[in-house]
Amino acid sequence: ANSILSSYGTTIFEVMSRLAVEHGAVNLGQGFPAGLEPADIIAAAARAVTEGPHQYPSMLGLPALRQAIAAHEKTFWGLDVDWQSEVLVVSGATEALADCLFGLIEPGDEVIVFEPLYDSYVPIIRRAGGVPVPVRLSPPDWTLPRAELAAAFSDKTKLVLLNTPMNPCAKVFSRDDLAYVAGLVQQHDAYALCDEVYEHLVFDGQDHVPMITLPGMRERCIRIGSFGKVFSLTSWKVGYIVAAPALMQPIARTHQYMTFTTPTALQAAVAWGLEHRDDYVRGLAGQLQARRDRLAAGLAELGYRPLTAQGTYFLTVDFSALGQEGDADYCRRLTTEAKVTAVPLSPFYLDRPGVETPRSFIRFCFAKTDAEIDEALIRLRAYG
Ligand code: PMP
Ligand code: GLN
Repeated sequence: ANSILSSYGTTIFEVMSRLAVEHGAVNLGQGFPAGLEPADIIAAAARAVTEGPHQYPSMLGLPALRQAIAAHEKTFWGLDVDWQSEVLVVSGATEALADCLFGLIEPGDEVIVFEPLYDSYVPIIRRAGGVPVPVRLSPPDWTLPRAELAAAFSDKTKLVLLNTPMNPCAKVFSRDDLAYVAGLVQQHDAYALCDEVYEHLVFDGQDHVPMITLPGMRERCIRIGSFGKVFSLTSWKVGYIVAAPALMQPIARTHQYMTFTTPTALQAAVAWGLEHRDDYVRGLAGQLQARRDRLAAGLAELGYRPLTAQGTYFLTVDFSALGQEGDADYCRRLTTEAKVTAVPLSPFYLDRPGVETPRSFIRFCFAKTDAEIDEALIRLRAYG
């Protein structure tokens, strides 16, 4: 058996969602939104399904969608991109990450990642023959340890994989931190793979800064987005990649043998959404911020200690005042007994000798209806 594949196990999102269904729990575990789906974009998909076309579009994506993505980059981030050579439509950010890592990593290349990290990164880096080099952010503010980051670079560093706003810990990297990372990337002639699926979900008047917009980074960054997140339609799996042509070439070559393309009707509907629903994109963070505050206030009242959530769908809390066991056992107990599901943070860390993984944090998804949030709080209060 391949030891990398057998080490994959089952992703924590699926494990906890299955357990939630089995026990009738309110699922604030896996990150997917509720009650935010835009009806007119769904109607555009229905029209596109009825009218066709129903055959393969270009492997790069529908021209109308690539043009709309280029316009989005200009409108929101002031970035000029050529829709024909610098935009690729893919089947979700998950595919984007695989295309980029398989397309760019040579065996033995090192990839710097930040812990706590999204679950698909390390398995794909390893399968591509790369070596993940973790740099751990420090709670409660998830501070970037600059000296440690500088020391993590070597002559084998190919990429830094940076996720901002960051899942699971909801950190939004400041311009200052990003400039520091960018400086190291340039100094070491490396690249930055920027997972920015939560680009529009930043709270409290803060800004999302795409690293590709920093000086000297236009040719060194690959920017990944997901319309599953932009339009709260996570099952659609329409994602995109923006990068300079020289970087895009190996990525597109990988994509053509990975999925080749993405369902035409969904691409057409997303293009319609980008053309007509800037208001939705601009309004989403405000709606989610209110839900964050509702959940955070309720959990704090119960004795949990919420950490700052600057962006994403997620609120991390320290549960140590309410449970003495490790985070995975605590989440299992909450699901089976309180009937509320959260996910433990420890699976977002790499196991390595001599370094303790934090086990007192769990992550709640607040991108849910008020009714779901309130029901979860009622159940947690009753459970005590
Ligand atoms: N990256 C991060 C940080 C995510 O949270 C997610 C989503 N859930 C993805 C990538 C994958 O996005 P998609 O559903 O578009 O494949
Ligand atoms: N990204 C989502 C989360 O963090 C889940 C995506 C998945 O289940 N693969 O919960």
